[in-house]
Parts: sequence; C-alpha cells; structure tokens
Amino acid sequence: MDSSRGVRTAVVVGAGIAGLTAATALARGGWQVEIAEISPAEATSGWGLCLTGPSLRALAELRLADACLTAGHSMTTVTHVGATGEPVDEIQLPRLIGARRPAMAGIARPVLHRILHAEAERCGVVVHRGLTVVAVEQVGNARAAAGPSELVRVRLSDGTVRQAGLIVGADGIGSSARGLLGLDASVDYHGQMVWRALVPRPPWATGIHHFAGKADTAGLVPISDSLAYVFLTENGVEQSFLPDAGLALRLQQLLEPFPGRVEELRPLVAASRSVVRRPVRTTFLEGAWHRGSGVVIGDAAHAPAPQMASGAALAIEDGLVLAEELARHESVSEALEAFTGRRRQRCRTLVETSMAIAGLEQAQRHHDAHALVYACHQQMAEPA
Ligand SMILES: Cc1cc2nc3c(=O)[nH]c(=O)nc-3n(C[C@H](O)[C@H](O)[C@H](O)COP(=O)(O)OP(=O)(O)OC[C@H]3O[C@@H](n4cnc5c(N)ncnc54)[C@H](O)[C@@H]3O)c2cc1C
Repeated sequence: MDSSRGVRTAVVVGAGIAGLTAATALARGGWQVEIAEISPAEATSGWGLCLTGPSLRALAELRLADACLTAGHSMTTVTHVGATGEPVDEIQLPRLIGARRPAMAGIARPVLHRILHAEAERCGVVVHRGLTVVAVEQVGNARAAAGPSELVRVRLSDGTVRQAGLIVGADGIGSSARGLLGLDASVDYHGQMVWRALVPRPPWATGIHHFAGKADTAGLVPISDSLAYVFLTENGVEQSFLPDAGLALRLQQLLEPFPGRVEELRPLVAASRSVVRRPVRTTFLEGAWHRGSGVVIGDAAHAPAPQMASGAALAIEDGLVLAEELARHESVSEALEAFTGRRRQRCRTLVETSMAIAGLEQAQRHHDAHALVYACHQQMAEPA
C-alpha cells in the first residue's frame, strides 16, 4: 500500500459479503485495497443462504453469478404448505438475470465466501486475517491525481498504521468501525429466534418450501445437489443462548407440531452436525452513513431481518454503487454523499418491510406476511 500519498488506497473492515464485494469492485476501479478481517480463519462450515434475484443481478455485474449458480442450487419457485401439510400455493419470484435463468439460488455460506474471496484476491485485494481496526483519524487534505481528497489514518490491532484515501466499515450488524467513525446506530431485537440446520437434500426439494405451523414457521432451502438447510422461526421468545450440544434435539422438538413432509425432515435435523440459532435483529442508520473519508456499508449500515432473504443483495449492491460513485466524483466525501443518497431509501424500505413481516409473523398473520414478502420482492426487482 502507498501509505505516503494514501490516495486511491482503501482499508476495508470485514471480509464478509459486503467487504469482499466492495473490495473487488474498488480494486477493479483502480483502488489498492486491504481488508482487515477479525476472524483468524476462513469459515469452513456454516449454514446456507438464499441469493434472491437482486443478489444474482449484482453478482452478475461482478461476473460472479455463474460461479455461484454452478456451486449452489438454482431455484425459481416458493411452495407454501399449510398447517395441515397440504400445499396451498406456489409462487415464482422475478427472474432478474434473464428469462431462461433461475430467479434465485441457494448456496452454502463457506462456498459463497470462497468464491468472493478468490475473486477479491485475483483482483489484487490483500486480506489480513485476525486483524481489526482500533483507531481512525482524519488527517486533512491531500492532492490526488483525480483532485483534492481527505486522508484517513487507520491504526490496526497489530500496531501498524495505514494512511488511506478511504475506510469502509463492512463489519456487520455489531460493527465497531461504525463507532470509530462516530456514527450512531441502535440494534433492535424482534422477539424471534431463527434456526438453521444443514441436512441432506431430499429429492423433492428443488425450490424453497415454507411450512406454516401453529405457532412457528419452518422451511427448506436446497443449497447444492446434495445439501439443503432447514429453517425455523420461533415466535415470541426472549433473546437467549443455548449450548451447541443441545441444538439439534431442540430443533427436532420444535418441528414436531408440523405435519406432512416436515416429518421426513425431523430425523435429518436430529442427525445434523451443523445447527445454528440466531436472534432476529435489525439496524438502520437514520443519521449519516459516512464521515470524512469513512463510510459504513452492508449490515453495518442497514441489517434487515432474514425473512426477506435480501441482506446479501443490499450488501453486494452497496459495493457496486460505492465503486461507481467513487469513479464519478473527484472528492471522496462527495462520492460518499452520493452513495448514501442512492442507497438510503432502498435499504430503509427493505429493513422496515422485514420488521413488519417479523411483526405479522408474531401476530400469527402468516398470510399477510407472505403477501408483504412478495410485494417487497417485486419492489426489490427494480434496479438498485
Ligand atoms: C439467520 C440469518 C439468515 C439469513 N439469510 C439470508 C439469506 O438467505 N439471504 C440473504 O440475502 N441474506 C440473509 N441474511 C442476511 C445476510 O447474512 C447479511 O445481510 C449479510 O451477511 C451482510 O453481509 P455483511 O458483509 O454486511 O456482514 P457480515 O456477513 O456480518 O460480515 C461481516 C464481516 O466482518 C467481520 N468483522 C466483524 N467485526 C469485525 C471487526 N471489528 N473487525 C474486522 N472484521 C470484523 C466478520 O467476521 C465478518 O467476516 C441472513 C441473516 C441471518 C442472521
């Protein structure tokens, strides 16, 4: 990194979906990028996620959609199964990368991360693991080839210092970059705990299945030819921690009231060695998303509840729009202002809708929740 001039050099905090895709987009735009990722090792296990149309569209722009479709499981339909175990409707989501291509894809998280990581490194991004940013200081103006720009001095947890033209906080909902940049956020819990369990893919699981229960909702998402994940949303519970050892058994118990095909899933869940339970939490930065030459993106700026399966889409779109605005403006702060202007309303809509869906589920208004999910998918189909 050219730390003497520091301009057109960026430090990204976090090598998640937002950080890796932003770093790739910036590197392709001519930036020298380093990522500080707090986790010492690349994740090798973990559940999957659904890449909806906007995610695939943004990945296609990065020329990574094909790799994700090949490694994951292409899908187009969502089948709703009622509380009696009978299918009640089947919905097709918008196909945003071509009429003959799938509307969405399920993929294992470590597989997606490997694809994003490999492309970032291929573009020259340097990823430092086991490292975070501990201090950020704006140090005034410098004259770059492209025009005047503010520099930022970034101290890393190994004691080294970078003088860069840009710092991007992409460190998730619990972001510490946010605080270092002096940006305010509150993180809210919504009375739901969500479960995910990796299981072998049953042959009938070619699209997403949603199962209505008496109190909770469950579902199944294929993520490869051989794997799928079961999900369950527990309603009206306190945020709590359960030891890993008991998770598979507890999830199996929570699935007991569900009839039909869920009966087939219960023994698979009991045998699963990858079960996670997470609180449904959201955040949205009402105030500034940027200060000086620093900005927050992805879940650090706007984390929706998982019901819309679209947090990854917003994260990838952020990186693309950020790189576009930095290419368009002479000064970094003007580019960051333009970035926020383009992103705020779309991200707010998604976060607020996801919170409304969580509320409808808590009130057992599942039909209204589904209607809102599909209305929001139509809205999200509009270009970012
Ligand atoms: C249960 C669940 C299911 C979901 N399912 C879907 C889905 O199906 N589809 C979908 O699109 N979205 C889904 N989401 C949302 C999606 O996971 C997020 O929106 C997305 O991961 C956001 O990416 P990110 O890079 O902003 O944050 P993260 O994925 O949280 O990545 C942040 C990265 O920063 C690192 N980090 C954290 N703190 C620091 C620090 N101090 N210094 C350096 N590095 C740090 C972390 O280790 C991590 O690598 C789901 C979310 C949950 C909780």
